[in-house]
Amino acid sequence: MFLKDLLFPKFCLGCGYLGTYICPKCYQKLKPYNRERCYYCKKSSPLGLTHPGCLKKLNIDGLTGIYYYNGFLKKIIKNIKYRLATEIWSDFIRGIKRDSLEKIMKLKTIAKDYIIEPIPLTKARMTERGFNQSILIAKFLNKFLGLETGDFLIRVKDKYPQAQLGSKLMRYRNVRGIFTLRPNADVKNKKILLVDDVVTTGSTVSEATRVLKRNGTSKVFVLALAKG
Ligand SMILES: [Zn+2]
Ligand SMILES: [Zn+2]
Repeated sequence: MFLKDLLFPKFCLGCGYLGTYICPKCYQKLKPYNRERCYYCKKSSPLGLTHPGCLKKLNIDGLTGIYYYNGFLKKIIKNIKYRLATEIWSDFIRGIKRDSLEKIMKLKTIAKDYIIEPIPLTKARMTERGFNQSILIAKFLNKFLGLETGDFLIRVKDKYPQAQLGSKLMRYRNVRGIFTLRPNADVKNKKILLVDDVVTTGSTVSEATRVLKRNGTSKVFVLALAKG
């Protein structure tokens, strides 16, 4: 054991077990996401690629997740605080299961000429939290993917919690205009892999995709750590 571990012992975020942030037993509670389907028609499709017939000009080209968004993952994501964030995420990614790793490797073959772009936070949210989870997640995933990193989008406002918004139209209105392109960002003809911590309805990543594609991005694939 290192001195650091004695001074700052690690406790499992799930059960309090000493020695790691996510113990092997709690790791079992994370379920690899395997409901691969097209975002638009919801019918099955490998790696969540959008069927050619479902793809419109400003649409997402594919969307998948590494784990299902369940209660335990929600707890982990909620409990990660600034000081420990980097360490926890590195423990987390180090423990990734073989089937999830295989998926990341498959993604690597289709996204080899992509640029990885974490979904940004607003300035206010960044100040409040002290860090952006999506940046850390993208950083660790990129150890496997080895892609160039982008910083193209700015988040200008937060959306209201989605739960209160029933219809598709309301959700769309809620996210409209939350992103802009960074001045001088050149996304023309680029392929972008958007990384977000949690994707549920997908309205946020759809809006990010719309902004990128309106500015000439040729392809956008979305990878979520947790897919609801
Ligand atoms: Zn545990
Ligand atoms: Zn489809």
